[in-house]
Amino acid sequence: MADCGHEHHHAHLSEDALAGELANAASRTETAGQKLTPPRRRVLELLLRAGQPVKAYDLIAAFGEDGAPAKPPTVYRALEFLTGHGFAHRIESLNAYVACRRGDEGHAAAFLICDCCGATREIASHGASPMAALGEAAGYAVSSVTIEAHGLCADCRS
Ligand SMILES: [Zn+2]
Ligand SMILES: [Zn+2]
Ligand SMILES: [Zn+2]
Repeated sequence: MADCGHEHHHAHLSEDALAGELANAASRTETAGQKLTPPRRRVLELLLRAGQPVKAYDLIAAFGEDGAPAKPPTVYRALEFLTGHGFAHRIESLNAYVACRRGDEGHAAAFLICDCCGATREIASHGASPMAALGEAAGYAVSSVTIEAHGLCADCRS
């Protein structure tokens, strides 16, 4: 990540907001006939706390509340669940995962990524849905669309 010599601030979720997000996730999961198991819940919590993209190995290292790392498959399986159900997205260009708070399953995702401070914002994905439609028209069963735009955020531009 570039160092532009100015201070970077990341917004953090309050404990109340975090508890609310986790409770919502648990009820959405149950409505879908699934369970927000402890590993799934823990990985989602770590992503929500980070408020920015996190690499899988950092999730593995931070997984144990007593400081013990997780077994990698535990975290990868949890990530598979979370990304498959719209609780998180994988950002290919950063090789990292980010929590999604939009609360709807299977939406096309679009991200604005700041190459200076790493701020990553999910935006309404007007460009991604036509892409899925074009894929369908070409005979593809499109399972996910993620658009990643790199540049400088408003803070880092000024
Ligand atoms: Zn999303
Ligand atoms: Zn920035
Ligand atoms: Zn910056």
